[in-house]
Amino acid sequence: AFEGLTERLQKTFTNLRKKGKVTEADLRDTMREIRLALLEADVNFKVVKQFVKTVRDQAIGSDILDGLNPAQQIVKLVNDELIKMMGTEDAPLNKSPKIPTIIMMSGLQGAGKTTTTGKLALKLKNEQKARPLLIAADVYRPAAIDQLVQVGQQIDVPVYQEGTDVNPVDIVRHGLEQAAENKNDYVFIDTAGRLQIDEKLMQELADIKALAHPDEILLVVDAMTGQNAVNTAEGFNEKLDITGVILTKLDGDTRGGAALSIRSVTGKPIKFVGQGEKMEDLDVFHPDRMASRILGMGDMLTLIEKTQKDFDQKQAAEMTQKIRENTFDFNDFVDQLNQVQNMGPIEDIMKMIPGMANNPAMQNVNVDPKDLEHTKAIVYSMTKAERENPDLLNPSRRRRIAAGSGRPVVEVNRMIKQFNQMKKMMNQMSKGNFNGMEGMLGN
Ligand code: GDP
Ligand code: MG
Repeated sequence: AFEGLTERLQKTFTNLRKKGKVTEADLRDTMREIRLALLEADVNFKVVKQFVKTVRDQAIGSDILDGLNPAQQIVKLVNDELIKMMGTEDAPLNKSPKIPTIIMMSGLQGAGKTTTTGKLALKLKNEQKARPLLIAADVYRPAAIDQLVQVGQQIDVPVYQEGTDVNPVDIVRHGLEQAAENKNDYVFIDTAGRLQIDEKLMQELADIKALAHPDEILLVVDAMTGQNAVNTAEGFNEKLDITGVILTKLDGDTRGGAALSIRSVTGKPIKFVGQGEKMEDLDVFHPDRMASRILGMGDMLTLIEKTQKDFDQKQAAEMTQKIRENTFDFNDFVDQLNQVQNMGPIEDIMKMIPGMANNPAMQNVNVDPKDLEHTKAIVYSMTKAERENPDLLNPSRRRRIAAGSGRPVVEVNRMIKQFNQMKKMMNQMSKGNFNGMEGMLGN
């Protein structure tokens, strides 16, 4: 949802970086470009105005224009300000000191409430062995109840429902009684939505809130609905005093900037993001990682985390260690490739690797699984010593490897170069060295 923004920002920073010295006029040009890029990405105009002003004031206020590497400093200011715009800190789910923790889901029709209820319940079940109960309080469409029941079956979590003829507030009361009886530790209330905010719905939600005293009132917002998403969030927050936001459909290719303004506009944290239709497609929202992703610096941390979840834990710890010690070699690389192939759509994974998200080769290209096979073939044609010590790979060895793998020498060279770049970047990122990201931002 942020490809266009990333591309524009990278172009801006590449231009800036080409100048050895950054004048105030250069800064003004850069800030204009950034303003346009954010507006183009549909970030709320008030938020953009504030953003640009803050970055400019900081750049001028400090003496970075006269200091070392001003372009890089400006990128860092933009990165920091993006993080601030999206919330700075991670915002974990509230938990009640005594069970059950009550989570009320709210939002417009089609935003993803029912789906996200299932995703979040599954996450809690997997991560905390939670025993949630889902309450079907959307009584306006019979299909809505069936849908929640199906979701419940899919993730093996019970659903409390009384059909469509009972007042939703009563359903919630009865559902909470049942949860108390069954000692459920989490209760999700899946409420009704409308196409637009209306008084009657808001009153109903306020009544449910007054009865249930939820620990969380999560607003589910479709990130693809642009400024409407911001207005919806303002409206719901005014009436319900929500505790957090879940952005859904960030996997879509519509501009997602509006949704990122929600934090600034409402002051309420984004807690999770939905990135697909499957029950597993819900991720904790990390403002800093999202900023890196927007700036095209990849999302290594999410990748590493995904790695740790899907991979063998021990192996994942070893990999992290190797990255830190800079001893990551071709054997590890090929292990990674094998694991990656088991992890799902390659293009999703690749986009998390620094420099890949905005690599022109990644634009609208489906990664051909054959490419991975070719890469593996190249590694398999190396000797044990070569895999462990890539510095050995001189031209004659490269020619031999090309012949052995049946791939052209240019491809072998390219692969080795990419490997070395990746290794360097991973090592620097693991040390939290921002300057190490320089190479990733365009050029
Ligand atoms: P509700 O009316 O708010 O309960 O919305 P639903 O949960 O019924 O979701 C509406 C549609 O959006 C369904 O087709 C979901 O599969 C889809 N959906 C929900 N979250 C996501 C998401 O993160 N990504 C994608 N691609 N689709 C989603
Ligand atoms: Mg629903």
